[in-house]
Amino acid sequence: MSEFALYNTMSRRVEPFAPADGETVRMYTCGPTVYKPAHIGNFRTFLFEDLLRRTLRLRGWRVLQVMNLTDVDDKIIKSAADEGRSVTDITEPVTELFHRDRRFMRIEDAEVYPKATEHIPEMIGIVKRLMDRGLAYRADDGSIYYAISNFPRYGRLSRLDTRTIKPGARVATDEYNKEDVRDFALWKAAKPEDERTGAAWDSPWGRGRPGWHLECSAMSMKYLGETLDIHCGGVDLIFPHHEDEIAQSEGATGVEFARMWCHGEFLLVEGSKMAKRVGNVVTVSTLRDQKIPGVAVRHLLFNVHYRKQLNLKDEALESSVRAVRRIGEFADRLAKARGGTPVLARAAEEAERDFRAALFDDLNAPEAVGALFTFIKSANAELDRGGTDAAALERGRQAFATMDGVLDLTPRPEDVDGDADARLERERLAEWVESRLAARREARAARDFSRADAIRQEIEARGVEVKDGPGGTEWRLVRGV
Ligand code: AMP
Ligand code: ZN
Repeated sequence: MSEFALYNTMSRRVEPFAPADGETVRMYTCGPTVYKPAHIGNFRTFLFEDLLRRTLRLRGWRVLQVMNLTDVDDKIIKSAADEGRSVTDITEPVTELFHRDRRFMRIEDAEVYPKATEHIPEMIGIVKRLMDRGLAYRADDGSIYYAISNFPRYGRLSRLDTRTIKPGARVATDEYNKEDVRDFALWKAAKPEDERTGAAWDSPWGRGRPGWHLECSAMSMKYLGETLDIHCGGVDLIFPHHEDEIAQSEGATGVEFARMWCHGEFLLVEGSKMAKRVGNVVTVSTLRDQKIPGVAVRHLLFNVHYRKQLNLKDEALESSVRAVRRIGEFADRLAKARGGTPVLARAAEEAERDFRAALFDDLNAPEAVGALFTFIKSANAELDRGGTDAAALERGRQAFATMDGVLDLTPRPEDVDGDADARLERERLAEWVESRLAARREARAARDFSRADAIRQEIEARGVEVKDGPGGTEWRLVRGV
């Protein structure tokens, strides 16, 4: 079995990885706050996690992935209160949209999508354990806080200088000036607007709602056990979110929370993080309007290593649109081909080997995409040459299916055009082209070349290119229907 390695934020090193039980990778991925549509910055993180889960399977393990949906927090409560609605009124449609957008990006379903509001008893259970262990206390305002000074390991993940996190201290840098790093809230006493928006629950400490970090400790433990194999998120979650999750989980259980911490870097726009509050977001609906398929965004994002920042540029997106079109044409060609050559089989072998090696070495997606394109180039040359070796062709198809099963970059007509009428139109055209090509074959067999030529012109007039090769006739649409 080949090696598999990932960068662990905890150790700041690339380390060998295997699931604790040798079979199933138990992976927790912090999910979206469902109050506004996710943007493609969020999707950069979710796509890195999608690539990770597919790569873990390629390596031969099963994956059990949990992605939480944060459906109660300050922003959600504020929008609900402003609109005179409940938090669920806000979060339900956005959750539905998230799943739709996720499918547009071809992000596979996680095994569980737990909601914070459906796990209040589990969260209260953790707070009780922390109180019992002297790691939490009730403050004058009725809220419960975590007592950081009683958890000496605090700060290991983010490597914050422990002197800056004394009770009452604030982190001095600008980046963190919104984060008060005094003891953080585990349970917040209810305010009138929490009650009004349906964001308050009973607890042994009175009415209230959970602090943000608590849901991830509670839901990961419920679905994955006390020690996770991998915990992922974007780099902005390292502090304070993941640091606080560790304090809560390890404080409550006394065992290591996650064996491996993986964080994806930011998607930027002109040097700034893509973020709702900056107002520079691109959403899936923008992409749909511009007829940019989700697979083009996958290609764009996989072209840069997940631990490097990536600046979104229009030209790069356009070139990704062209790149996936090439993959689509190749997929078609491979499906229609009648035979291959030994060189094709060898190229398949090499591509698959390089592909695995790249991904198993800390998810080197740019190199994996490179291996796919190297294969497409040599396979296209071999198909031009024509071939009769069925086993070689099959080997090529297998390699392509393996690589595309992980990257998932082949466009489908409905990706760009969800319009059923246009799809039907394309299907009709394909049927018509196939029947005209059959008539042309008959004309050629009967040596009626002028008729065969006329049929070819007739087909080309519909925007279809016809190419005769040793492996038979191929066609493709070069102009819209
Ligand atoms: P949120 O909905 O704000 O809780 O974020 C969901 C996920 O998206 C988290 O893992 C964030 O770290 C990640 N994220 C937010 N903005 C970006 C960005 N510009 N680039 C990459 N990941 C991001
Ligand atoms: Zn989380």
